[in-house]
Amino acid sequence: MKLLLFALSLFFSASVYSNVETLIIDTGPGHASVTRFPNGDIMVFDTGHWSYQSIVMEKFAAFIGDADIDLLITSHSDADHLATTDELLNNYQVHRVIRPGKVRDTATWRSHNDAIVSAGQSGLTHDINLINTNLPIGTVFNFGGASVTYLSGFHEPPVEWNLEHSEFLNAGSIVVRVLYNGHSILFTGDAVGREEGSAADAPAIATERLLIDNAVHRPVQSDILIVPHHGSDDASSTEFIKAVAPRWVIFPAGHKYHHPVAVTAKRFTDLGYNEDCMLRTDLGDNEGGKEWSHGATGTGDKANDDHISIVLQDTGDPIVRYVGGAAVNCPAVLSVGVVQPTADNVIIKKSRSGICHTPASSWYSRTKNFDAFTDLASCLASGGRLPN
Ligand SMILES: [Zn+2]
Repeated sequence: MKLLLFALSLFFSASVYSNVETLIIDTGPGHASVTRFPNGDIMVFDTGHWSYQSIVMEKFAAFIGDADIDLLITSHSDADHLATTDELLNNYQVHRVIRPGKVRDTATWRSHNDAIVSAGQSGLTHDINLINTNLPIGTVFNFGGASVTYLSGFHEPPVEWNLEHSEFLNAGSIVVRVLYNGHSILFTGDAVGREEGSAADAPAIATERLLIDNAVHRPVQSDILIVPHHGSDDASSTEFIKAVAPRWVIFPAGHKYHHPVAVTAKRFTDLGYNEDCMLRTDLGDNEGGKEWSHGATGTGDKANDDHISIVLQDTGDPIVRYVGGAAVNCPAVLSVGVVQPTADNVIIKKSRSGICHTPASSWYSRTKNFDAFTDLASCLASGGRLPN
């Protein structure tokens, strides 16, 4: 009996966590990340650069263990975001994939696509391909009190955005916001928000314009911003930075392409950001030229040495640090514009006991552990009930 209880306690302790934990993997000049939610579910958002597959897979494996991957998102079709998708599908049970599905002629894209298609055909993976699936903006995925809101994503972005080829591909990037205990992380892929070289205060365009315009209904403000397009000048408009008002800024970048560029970093520091609150997965890079020089040392930066850990705690402030380093404490720099609740942007909270709380409920603000619904009807339809 004792043994059974011990085994049961191991089982339960292994499947319940109190925090949301995210690892931004140093995959050189690309993006890969993995997030564990309080219920133990795993989300992978982007799977790394093709030159560093073994590094990324090692990191994924150590983080995920033998769990399933509930949600795998590839932000867009560039091969610096897709490299280990096939290995993940071959080694893990992946329940859902969301991807723009834009066809590309690269070996990395083809193997990622083949793996998703065959997992979909096996019936074990739900392939949400934006080429043939309308995933409404604002769709919420719930994970044990944490939520992931889908804020943008296109098979092909609107033609009226009027973008050049590479920016046209990037601007369709899937953007999601992870929310837990009132704190949030914004994942942006290679979203576009500026015309390269335009004035620092030029109004946001393309993906960033859409996110800002929708923010009244679908908040974009986030404690931690995973900076779009590795810190390129074609994203992180001043207007977007103000709308997100992050406390921590994370550049997923490597020793190539001069990312993050100095003019992008300057848009943050001009708003009052301390450079120590702007972390980068190429810390130490000295590529020179137009690259941001903060933290540059005598050698070009290698991959796999600047992983970044984010913890959204069940109580208290987020913890952001370089893996192996101390927590970086960063106060708010920008005041967050208050989003007025409207019928469209209020989240309905379904408590653990199955009660659907609207903001009118006296328990609304006290309910910290909940599944989020975009409206009362869908909360009730999920089996929830109204408070007595
Ligand atoms: Zn990229």
